[in-house]
Amino acid sequence: RPTVVFDNVRFGYDPDREILHGLSFEVPAGAQVAIVGPSGAGKSTIGRLLFRFYDPSSGRILIDGQDIRHVTQASLRQRIGIVPQDSVLFNDTIGYNIAYGRSGASDAEVMDAARGAAIDRFIAGLPQGLDTEVGERGLKLSGGEKQRVAIARTLLKDPPILLLDEATSALDTRTEQAILATLRNVSADRTSIAIAHRLSTIADADIINVLHEGRLEEQGTHAQLLRHDGL
Ligand code: ADP
Ligand code: ADP
Repeated sequence: RPTVVFDNVRFGYDPDREILHGLSFEVPAGAQVAIVGPSGAGKSTIGRLLFRFYDPSSGRILIDGQDIRHVTQASLRQRIGIVPQDSVLFNDTIGYNIAYGRSGASDAEVMDAARGAAIDRFIAGLPQGLDTEVGERGLKLSGGEKQRVAIARTLLKDPPILLLDEATSALDTRTEQAILATLRNVSADRTSIAIAHRLSTIADADIINVLHEGRLEEQGTHAQLLRHDGL
């Protein structure tokens, strides 16, 4: 049974301007699903609806078969782990930032948990130890390193569904590809929704949904889409 279903979802921030015009797509359990499209297409709106910052004006959104209007905010946040484009880190150690929510965890405990969750490769990609201070007094992490910390933090919570909302869009291509390769390595079977504006970012997704002006324009694998119109 699909994990997330958008069923004919209509939505507008203002009543006189509809943004999503009856959007339907499914995220099967274990699948890596991508939503790609130009800026303004409505991609981030999909994430906001998933977290119920807003509700659709009509249609339904289901998670594990249940209308999300009947799911508590706490349960939604437990089931969907989000990595946004610009992750905010605490002015504390890298380890604290990764283990956020497990207060008092030592570096050894963070590494054990990371190995258990198979995310130690993300941490291996960081330039400094877990005890390194982040922020004004300490290490200035690059955008790519920050996103490694943010992704590790989210994966450590082991969410059933991972939502990457332009998580690597601000990075240069090489850094982006390195992070995506790590993610593929550590999270191959995890249900995920990746929102991106470049097709190259999500080329490996099982299902790619091409969104254009609030409508699903095309759907398929990367190879199928290339065959259609040489995107
Ligand atoms: P994308 O993520 O694909 O760039 P968005 O979902 O952010 O697109 O935005 C889709 C449309 O909704 C855009 O036209 C944008 O201007 C509009 N929009 C986004 N957020 C708001 C808001 N809070 N209030 C009004 N309009 C908004
Ligand atoms: P926490 O780690 O505290 O549980 P989350 O990882 O759930 O927080 O979310 C991180 C932040 O991103 C929160 O402030 C949340 O409100 C915000 N957020 C969640 N979903 C979206 C979204 N689709 N668009 C923008 N911000 C979001």
